[in-house]
Amino acid sequence: MKRLISAKDVLDAAKEHKDLTVDKNTIVTAQAADLAWENGVLLVSDSDAQESSSKGCAATKAPEAHEDAIASCGATKEQEPVLTASQIEEIMTAAVDKGLWTADELQSLLHGNAPATQELPPVTVGVSNRHIHLSQEHLEQLFGKGHELTPIKDLSQPGQFASKECVTLVGPKGVIEKVRVLGPVRARTQVEILAADTFKLGVPQAIRLSGHLEGTPGITVVGPEGTVVLPEGVIVASRHIHMTPEDAARRDLHDGQVVSIKFGGERGGQLDEVVIRATRTGALDCHIDTEEANALHIKNGSVVEVVK
Ligand SMILES: [Zn+2]
Repeated sequence: MKRLISAKDVLDAAKEHKDLTVDKNTIVTAQAADLAWENGVLLVSDSDAQESSSKGCAATKAPEAHEDAIASCGATKEQEPVLTASQIEEIMTAAVDKGLWTADELQSLLHGNAPATQELPPVTVGVSNRHIHLSQEHLEQLFGKGHELTPIKDLSQPGQFASKECVTLVGPKGVIEKVRVLGPVRARTQVEILAADTFKLGVPQAIRLSGHLEGTPGITVVGPEGTVVLPEGVIVASRHIHMTPEDAARRDLHDGQVVSIKFGGERGGQLDEVVIRATRTGALDCHIDTEEANALHIKNGSVVEVVK
């Protein structure tokens, strides 16, 4: 069984001031070997490790002492590699082909997991107005049996669209008309309104991520063919940034992490409590609602800075 020493292993070892043991079954990537050299991590061969402990070989970690240490300990940089560079490349390519690694993960491995900030695309903003997602059952209750949504505009997330259909929200204190239905249909109906709408409609404010509907207020939804009384499902959406797990890793972020976004200009400012939503199909986009956007003069497509 071959063991791979990657750039990351070397950097981890450097952090902990440890050396790495190599034997004939260990593959050291070229990058790892270079990093070991730069960071003063000794690649001690298995037999030498035993020897050096019995002989008390005093290897120091300073890079300039490294060469001497290697020479005196007998761990060689010139040692015959177990695999050739092209064999290693072949193994890595096969791993990507078989889906064991994504190309991005391999890239990040080869670069010691250092986020390549200069190559990262900027985080742009998608501004949402109030809208509703419907279940198929509720769609048919509101628009008639067998009704299907008519897409009029694609949204930033793959497959999501704004539809021609609109509904009216009726709360205990007021009514809001022309609320856009977003498609495709979902498992559960969800109403996303602005904070000011909660006062107009007379419903409590439940700030939630999409899909977290337990304990949220309900509302009455009116369509051209019928009415649905929702016992729950009305939220003011938590601001969030969509991205893939690979993109999150490159930015040193992870799913569920809470960050801030910063925006300059005349009404510039910072919004905290922005949740990272890293999903396989996530397209990089920061979602805030029209109130949040207006407060900072942010428009659709504005670029924001992510602050950890
Ligand atoms: Zn979103």
